[in-house]
Amino acid sequence: MARMPGAEWSPITVNYTRDGMGEIHGVTLHIMAGTLAGTDSWFRNRAAEASSHFGTGRAGALRQWVDTKDKAWAQADGNPHWISIENEGRGGDDLTDAQLDACARVLAWAHKQHGVPLRVTDSPNGRGLGHHSMGGSAWGGHLACPGVKVLAQKAEIVRRAAALVDGKPKEDTIKIVLEDGVPQWPGRVLKVTSPMMRGADVRIWQEKMAKRGWKIDVDGVFGPQSAGVAKGYRKATGLNAVAEVDEDAWSMTWSWRPPPQTPPPAEPPPPLPATCQPGLVDDAN
Ligand SMILES: [Zn+2]
Repeated sequence: MARMPGAEWSPITVNYTRDGMGEIHGVTLHIMAGTLAGTDSWFRNRAAEASSHFGTGRAGALRQWVDTKDKAWAQADGNPHWISIENEGRGGDDLTDAQLDACARVLAWAHKQHGVPLRVTDSPNGRGLGHHSMGGSAWGGHLACPGVKVLAQKAEIVRRAAALVDGKPKEDTIKIVLEDGVPQWPGRVLKVTSPMMRGADVRIWQEKMAKRGWKIDVDGVFGPQSAGVAKGYRKATGLNAVAEVDEDAWSMTWSWRPPPQTPPPAEPPPPLPATCQPGLVDDAN
């Protein structure tokens, strides 16, 4: 029995083969061309002769219809070896950020539970994260499922799954080159993304901003706090106040000096006691 913790278990009683799974080679992505609710009721209809192990909703719902010891009916000849995920959406849609997370959770679980490798595959003979259309006619000839936009998101799903398995997200590979002790522009604009940017460039920038007296955690992750500091610093240095570290802001980080303060005007000397003030002496006597 293999049910995924964290997925809503909503078993169907028809349209699958009990104990029908063979060796599991990977996870396949599908697009519903419909809604999660509509697909749910369709899979419960014997006439559908279709099902999948998992389903995602565009807001991030994750449902499991079929135990992964049982064969779902999602991709014909691919059924015995592939865990299937149906994703809510229309043909040609990309997956939402929440769906990418949900698919990554399934892949990470399939990796731990069934040994599915964390990589993209585009072959029905491969292993890893595949998709329906890669199986061609033997898999039912659904050449538009899940569509090119979703195919372009497979690498991101694998990346997120790897982060879940590692317990901590991987750092982005960024090389810092110092010139006269000053780190050169690494070539990417630091800003808040999902998942968040992590890496040596973020850390070295945070370090410098902390030295400049900004309240910022030096953790190598560009989150909302870093974005706030980036915006504040740009404002202070006269750049347009967006929450990003682009090439201009990066070089300002190491080169900018605050303008010298004009000293406050000198205090006038205190008045002398009245009795000693010249010119006030009464010389009429
Ligand atoms: Zn499909």
